[in-house]
Amino acid sequence: MGVKKGILVHPDEFTKKQIDRAASLGVDVIGIHPVGGKEAAGSLSALVGLCKTGEFRALVDYAIDVCGLTVEYECHAASYLLDRGLFDAHPEYFRMDENGERTPDVNFCPSSAEALRIVAERAVALAESLYRGSHDFYFWLDDVSGKKCCCEKCRELSHSDQQMIYLKAIGEALGKRFYDARVPYLAYFNTVKLPEKFKPDGRIFLEYAPFEKYVKKHPEMIGREAEMLDPLLDFFGREDAKVLEYWLDNSLFSGWKKPPKPLAVDRGTVAREVAYYKAHGVKNIATFACFLGDDYEALYGEPDIAAFAASEASPSAYEARLRRSDIRPADE
Ligand SMILES: [Zn+2]
Repeated sequence: MGVKKGILVHPDEFTKKQIDRAASLGVDVIGIHPVGGKEAAGSLSALVGLCKTGEFRALVDYAIDVCGLTVEYECHAASYLLDRGLFDAHPEYFRMDENGERTPDVNFCPSSAEALRIVAERAVALAESLYRGSHDFYFWLDDVSGKKCCCEKCRELSHSDQQMIYLKAIGEALGKRFYDARVPYLAYFNTVKLPEKFKPDGRIFLEYAPFEKYVKKHPEMIGREAEMLDPLLDFFGREDAKVLEYWLDNSLFSGWKKPPKPLAVDRGTVAREVAYYKAHGVKNIATFACFLGDDYEALYGEPDIAAFAASEASPSAYEARLRRSDIRPADE
């Protein structure tokens, strides 16, 4: 069996044109990714609102029913799931920073049973409001490096173990509502290290996002997948593991500022890395493909997502694509 391939786009880039492009190139999954960073809670709220509109629902229906795609939602959710407005009444729900101060800046205290209960309840409500998404619920913790809880109960728990507590709580709640619910352990920044105190249960699968490879402040990470990826695959299992790459992440390449820059895909690298992940048993590979919407096309023409999509596309879809344009198979 081939590899499942996904692209992640921002909600405003989820258009009929993008859906057609993805489907014709052999992409299997479109992940809708509200803008992360400091705006994540607000952009996730906006997405929940968008999911109520007829226009958006019609697009999702088209992607699923006409084009045969799977639709997923991948978002940083911690600040959305625990309303920051609760801080004044319940600072104990929130994380303690390195200086011993409770702060509502990001994430929360995973040793607070009440915080976990609220977060899990809100996760179920969020799952119900994301229109026709798969039951793999990508509700990641906040988009930050560091920033775990340092309270007395949490201090000895690594970032990875704190994430495991969160995932077990939402996984259990989501599993009661959706029998096949699964939740990803997002391995990036601090969480590329294995959890020490908790083992994955049947609902938790690995999602490895090698962001460090792409940011200049971590040049030492380049070429170190084997060190990071293999232990994670052994720990969480290869069968269900997913890689979330940045090959087409034009938001990253544009410094997260519009207007988008022209995307230059290194096809040799994409082909080599897809092959690498496959050889390690990964069967689900996605890449961010943001900042490639209508505004991109108006500036530069059709975005080149074929290098990724075609490396596992069905021969017919790929050949049809070749007939329509001058693309050539990626270098081996
Ligand atoms: Zn804590």
